[in-house]
Amino acid sequence: MSATSPAHRHAALCKEIAAHDYRYYVLDDPSISDFAYDALLRELREIEADHPVLVSEHSPSQRVSGKPREGLRKVERAVKMYSLDNAYATADIDAFVARCTESLEGEEVLFTVEPKLDGASLEVVYEGGHLALATTRGDGAVGEDVTTNVRTIRSLPLTIAHEGKLTLRGEVVLYKRDLAKLNELRAREGLEPFANPRNAAAGSLRMLDAREVAKRPLRVLVYQLVEGSSMHQSHAESIAWLRSIGLPTHGLEVCVPAAGIAAELERLDGLRTSYPYETDGAVVKVNDYAQQSRLGFTSKYPRWAMAYKFAAERARTRVLDIVVQVGRTGALTPVAVLDPVPLGGTTVSRASLHNADQIAELDVRVGDTVFVEKAGEIIPQVVGVEANEGPSRGEPFAMPTVCPACGGPVSARARDEERPDLGVEAALRCTNRTCSAKVKGAVLHWSRRFAMDVSHLGESLVDQLVDAGLVADVADLYDLTYEALVKLDRMGDKSARNLVEAIAASKARPFSRVLTGLGIPQIGQVAANQMAERVRSIEALFASSAEELRATLASIHGFGDKMVEAAVAFVFDPETRSLLERLRDRSVGTPEPESDRVEGPLSGQRVCVTGTLTKKREAVHDAIRAAGGVVHDGVKKDTTILIAGEKVGQAKLDQAKKYGVRVVGEADLDAMLAG
Ligand code: AMP
Ligand code: ZN
Repeated sequence: MSATSPAHRHAALCKEIAAHDYRYYVLDDPSISDFAYDALLRELREIEADHPVLVSEHSPSQRVSGKPREGLRKVERAVKMYSLDNAYATADIDAFVARCTESLEGEEVLFTVEPKLDGASLEVVYEGGHLALATTRGDGAVGEDVTTNVRTIRSLPLTIAHEGKLTLRGEVVLYKRDLAKLNELRAREGLEPFANPRNAAAGSLRMLDAREVAKRPLRVLVYQLVEGSSMHQSHAESIAWLRSIGLPTHGLEVCVPAAGIAAELERLDGLRTSYPYETDGAVVKVNDYAQQSRLGFTSKYPRWAMAYKFAAERARTRVLDIVVQVGRTGALTPVAVLDPVPLGGTTVSRASLHNADQIAELDVRVGDTVFVEKAGEIIPQVVGVEANEGPSRGEPFAMPTVCPACGGPVSARARDEERPDLGVEAALRCTNRTCSAKVKGAVLHWSRRFAMDVSHLGESLVDQLVDAGLVADVADLYDLTYEALVKLDRMGDKSARNLVEAIAASKARPFSRVLTGLGIPQIGQVAANQMAERVRSIEALFASSAEELRATLASIHGFGDKMVEAAVAFVFDPETRSLLERLRDRSVGTPEPESDRVEGPLSGQRVCVTGTLTKKREAVHDAIRAAGGVVHDGVKKDTTILIAGEKVGQAKLDQAKKYGVRVVGEADLDAMLAG
């Protein structure tokens, strides 16, 4: 192999890209521009295109590859993945330390104290220097193979400088800032935000399509070496070594004698808000491996480790009642009504119980004393029940068999229509079309800022309008009169006038907003915009047959079968049809302008311009359009090029990196415009 052979260059590029991934994702300190990074990746892909023999699954080009899988393969592991015993008070930690010292017959014991990362557990195996397997915790003994998904996580190297087999445990986390961005994006697409990084991480990890996983900003932090540790005597030593060979670790473990634990816990508690990721406590571990193995395990926990939950994030209170809420899609969500208790800066009086499975697992009953935590520091959740035994305990909670809002029938949806073996979702849904809770949810969704943007129309007013029988669907909003509104409770002359005006003003919103506002299953805001580009008005929708609509939608970039079928079924549902007719008769929605798109050197490109350029921004936009390109105001999922002028904001560059958008300068744009 000569120094300039393609194989040689390929190997050098793999190394260089891995080093940049490490700097960017682990050290948070990139040393080259995104543009230069993309150029390396492009060069690598070009070499691989010319020399397919060089492609291996360890190449950085293969982080995302393949088709969605059918399901996740189960993998039995050699060393069971245990949970951790929880301490809610320092006295529990003292007792843990006493047990350890006693079992070790007075030997000197050192403990490590480190943050407990709040994400999804993961086991990773490296063999022969390559990432070979990644599995979820599953039931501990058997996990699920998520290797393809984990390969997309750039903070985890595909190749390491250690040949022996290594089995590692780590946590898949999302940085708080990444979750905020992800949720913003989801909100714009009309999707439910993730309640916390843990749910986002766990859900992402188990997705069947690695290309989707690649869009989630996941990271891995390794916290334990399970196999391949023979050259190290202790936990702290192993972690430091893993870090030295380029594996991502939190880097915060400290080693102290028993007397030093309390101070360390306090110190970590003080630091936790400064970490980029969520932590929900600290883990105290016996540091020495020989001592760990003498202590051993119970059936569930290692005897040499204990998790400590920070107090500020946890409150103890009583469950006064369990009520069930019904949302826009009809999903029934049980909620615990709590004796109000201060928690992390606010007073908490309600906490989500998610679904029947969760309630059964916790065995929460009315009257119980429970522990409540703030997940992702936002939404409180019931995490545990204080041992409440005895005859005075309430009955186990049962989900209602009818909808609590309308008395209609409820049922659980299949997880996947084509896979009856996957069973049904844990969530029950009300199947009554005219359910008042669903109507309220639909009207509220319609009025949201990202949809039809009807100001003055908030939750309590929507409740009032639906309960008074004035509104049974969104078209009814456009028949509301000042006279009818002013008769409502707590409705003044001015408010009634404002609302009528706001509703009338919303008629002028573009048709894409109408599509967003309808809340079509599977079709979020971005998809609604794309759909409105092709089908520009209600009239146009009516003019096409189901076959035509199916073909049109299927040709839209990013529209999969599920989305197309959901949209066609929705549009051709007789009830939707009559709703659309009534909206059309009330002149709701402005047809999208015929896009007089020209063909040119930028045809098919979606371009965002940012930073200071030598020409006026508007002039640049016009030039892009004249060359056949589409202008994007911000960097979106389907943006193809970001033109970066001077003083570019890091946020835009981060977005571009995230979506794999090509970043070029003004000179490059001029060259492209010139063809
Ligand atoms: P639990 O799920 O509450 O039983 O806690 C056990 C889980 O905590 C483990 O499976 C890990 O995924 C997670 N964990 C987070 N950070 C750490 C850490 N520093 N050391 C050990 N486990 C951790
Ligand atoms: Zn209902």
